[in-house]
Amino acid sequence: MRIRFTPQQAAFRQEVLDFLGENLPADREGPEDDRMRGELGWSPEFSRKLAAKNWVALAWPKEYGGSARGHMDQVIFNEEMAYHRAPIGAHRRGVFYVGPILILYGTDEQKKKHLNAITSGSGYYCQLFSEPGAGSDLASLQTRAVRDGDDYLVSGQKIWTSDGHRSDYGWLVARTDPDAPKHKGISTFIFDMKAPGVTVRPLVNLAGIHSFNEVFFDNVRVPKANMVGEENRGWYHAAATLDFERSSIATFAGTRRYLDDLLPLVRSRGLDDRDRHAMADLYTTVLVGQMLSYSIASMQEAGRVPNKEASVAKLMSSELRQNASVVAIRALGMAGQVHEGPGAVRYGRYTRDYLANVSATIAGGTSEIQRNVVATRGLGLPRG
Ligand SMILES: Cc1cc2nc3c(=O)[nH]c(=O)nc-3n(C[C@H](O)[C@H](O)[C@H](O)COP(=O)(O)OP(=O)(O)OC[C@H]3O[C@@H](n4cnc5c(N)ncnc54)[C@H](O)[C@@H]3O)c2cc1C
Repeated sequence: MRIRFTPQQAAFRQEVLDFLGENLPADREGPEDDRMRGELGWSPEFSRKLAAKNWVALAWPKEYGGSARGHMDQVIFNEEMAYHRAPIGAHRRGVFYVGPILILYGTDEQKKKHLNAITSGSGYYCQLFSEPGAGSDLASLQTRAVRDGDDYLVSGQKIWTSDGHRSDYGWLVARTDPDAPKHKGISTFIFDMKAPGVTVRPLVNLAGIHSFNEVFFDNVRVPKANMVGEENRGWYHAAATLDFERSSIATFAGTRRYLDDLLPLVRSRGLDDRDRHAMADLYTTVLVGQMLSYSIASMQEAGRVPNKEASVAKLMSSELRQNASVVAIRALGMAGQVHEGPGAVRYGRYTRDYLANVSATIAGGTSEIQRNVVATRGLGLPRG
């Protein structure tokens, strides 16, 4: 395999780098770094700057406010955004999850209302999928949407809803036919988070950051016009959107930056053989992961859907992130345990990352589930 970027792709990378050089403040990684504390901070402002360049939804068709760029351009863009820690959190979920399902299945009215909000960087969305009894086995979800005239009445509970507390809308999956086989009785809705009957309760993660929530629905009235696609076909509609961003390049590039920042710190403290080898292993995995991401993007450019490859990338990138933070904490010694005050290295970033990264192998599909996909769809092994 030979990975080579075209002159246009190399020029695009340079354009992205120039943009980042002009638009990211040099001194933003201080003690109040917004993202370390789980706040949006100036992320919405950065989204608007991207919107002015038409770069929020790079790969979307032009008719929907995108730039119609190829998968490899998207990979280049995501790679540089992640490496430079650009704050794209305010619009990421809208671009990669909500927008694609609306483009594929939304009504004209839904597209008009939401796609413009996403590409202009002004709408904020969450994903209302997981429930206390339905995570890996999402099709077991129990939240009900019962038809009532021109509306549905939604009752039930979601959990682990990232950014639910600051979202305008959610992408909801709910059961509309309790008698159908479990994958066939599910529908999807664009859900108004401010509707009467919605209660959002905070969940604080190990690192003390409020990033996700529990969301309760008490007979919330949702107009039929907010259903996306066909009734009871929601499972299949959601699956069709998986193709939009699956390379994991952002996580590999983010970890490369993490290691690049860590290197001078651990070098100045002296390393034993174990840490030296651990750093070498981490860098090796980052490089392999980057190559894997490029090959996934080239598969997508050729019109193929990555499946086991996406699971391999997710598995590798999330375990890599965890391993990197374990090595950082170990190599920094006692200083790695201090998360606040004068003794904290880089304002406690490594301590917080170590705690926050525990969830990397759970969020977006656990490592066990990724291994199941690789074993069954990749290696053709029988299901357990
Ligand atoms: C940081 C973070 C952010 C998240 N954000 C969102 C969000 O915005 N919206 C949303 O809807 N959800 C979100 N989630 C939820 C996430 O999708 C689920 O946590 C995940 O799918 C796992 O489901 P679960 O927690 O119910 O665990 P379970 O599915 O109950 O799994 C428990 C354990 O059993 C294992 N297991 C389960 N099934 C199998 C199997 N078939 N074979 C082998 N092992 C198995 C799992 O690997 C795991 O170790 C988030 C989670 C985290 C950690």
